[in-house]
Amino acid sequence: MKVGIIRCQQTEDLCPGNTDFKVAAEGLKAFEATGPVEVMGFVSCGGCPGKRTVARARVMVERGAGAIVFASCISRGNPIGMACPHFSAMRESISRAVGADMVLIDYTH
Ligand code: SF4
Repeated sequence: MKVGIIRCQQTEDLCPGNTDFKVAAEGLKAFEATGPVEVMGFVSCGGCPGKRTVARARVMVERGAGAIVFASCISRGNPIGMACPHFSAMRESISRAVGADMVLIDYTH
C-alpha cells in the first residue's frame, strides 16, 4: 500500500521525519496492521491552522495514496510535546474531502 503522510510545519525545522520513514518501511507502530508501506508523499500542513492539508491530501489520493497518515508531531506532539490544536478540525475536513472510505491513520509512531 502507498500512503501519504502529513506533518506539522512547525516541527519541520527540527525533525527530518526519519522515524516516520522507518516505521512505514518496516511496518512498525501505526503500520503494524497494514504491514510495510511505501511513503508516496510527505507534505507539511502548510502552517497554522492547517487548511492546506485538505488540498494536499486530495492530491496525494489522486496520485495513488491508499491512506492518509497524520504524523505523530500533529496528533501526539512528538518530539517536543505540543500536539496540534487543529488536529480534529483538520481530520474532519480531510475526511470530507477524500471520502469516508479513505483510510485515515492518526499517528505514525
Ligand atoms: S496547524 Fe497544527 S500541524 Fe500545522 S503548523 Fe500549526 S500546530 Fe503544526
